[in-house]
Amino acid sequence: MPKTPEDIIRDEIQAMSGYHVPDSAGMVKLDAMENPYRLPPQLQAEAARLVEAAALNRYPDSGAVRLKARLREVMAIPPGADVLVGNGSDELIQSLMLAAARPGASVLGLEPSFVMFRLIAAFCGLRFIGAPLNSDFTLDADRVIEVIAEHQPALVFIAFPNNPSGNLFDPEAIARIIRAAPGIVVVDEAYHAFAGQTFMPRLGDFPNLLIMRTLSKLGLAGLRLGVLAGAHAWLKHVDKVRLPYNVNVLTQLIAEKVLQHQDLLAQQATLIRAERARLFGELDRIPGIRPFPSDANFILFRARGANDIFAGLKRRGVLIKNLHESHPALAQCLRVTVGAPEENAKFLGALKEIVSAG
Ligand SMILES: *Cc1c(COP(=O)(O)O)cnc(C)c1O
Repeated sequence: MPKTPEDIIRDEIQAMSGYHVPDSAGMVKLDAMENPYRLPPQLQAEAARLVEAAALNRYPDSGAVRLKARLREVMAIPPGADVLVGNGSDELIQSLMLAAARPGASVLGLEPSFVMFRLIAAFCGLRFIGAPLNSDFTLDADRVIEVIAEHQPALVFIAFPNNPSGNLFDPEAIARIIRAAPGIVVVDEAYHAFAGQTFMPRLGDFPNLLIMRTLSKLGLAGLRLGVLAGAHAWLKHVDKVRLPYNVNVLTQLIAEKVLQHQDLLAQQATLIRAERARLFGELDRIPGIRPFPSDANFILFRARGANDIFAGLKRRGVLIKNLHESHPALAQCLRVTVGAPEENAKFLGALKEIVSAG
């Protein structure tokens, strides 16, 4: 008798609903922390020339040697650390978890945080342990250390700044967690460009610390490039799990070129930070809306009737992220990406209209 999909597919995968990406055609897209700015025309033209000349008939450089050298320089990765690149940081999370997925092993994440930590743990057959943040999304290191002592997780993931709350945690609280963890601690610095704080210079202080970065929030989400830095003793094993040609030719060429213009990415991040301050001020002035301070390129806010606000914005052509019902700590919460000034104005106009009508 042939088996059914229900016989073959793992129960935990059957129980999942799959990562839903909403249709955003024609909308003001403020749901996914993308950078609103394109590359300037001259750099677009340089990238086009690279694409024209690229040897698409050949496999990419599996070691991504030139790109890694550039990343080391731009991200100030300490010379003693190894570097791995991935097809987005999502893939690096997956490679790490696959490498550590001994039977019974667990992954610890803070809650609420980036949902991919929990999802990818399930893909890899790892147990996921959620350690709660305080209700204002700050980090209670003592509590996390207790959970670590109980579950002895192979991996701990800390997003710094955190998504979806946008805040940086106290670095000393993180340092205590790194010292208390029996295994790897990954500090995920996806929003580094908007935060101005990093654990990168402290990589050498903690043998079990790995730092993750991505180009996704920096204006290159379409390229899919994630970066993992840390001790060779760990990364040599993760590198074996990485699929041989995981970062394609075009991504390697274009990322390497764009990273030669670091100043430009930094300028865009500065614009976004200024716009974030303006957007926060405006949100704070709307009755019934409570924005949380952010060190990232998005703002979490609480509003009575979050579902109606989300739907009303959508009807008015503005897509943000509805987090109500995603986690009890995020009741009545919505998350908006900081866009270009005209996008933020559309969002604020629509929001004020909805709130005053409600
Ligand atoms: C957006 C985000 C990422 C980025 O993932 P990519 O796969 O590199 O696009 C990683 N970590 C956190 C916390 C994020 O919010």
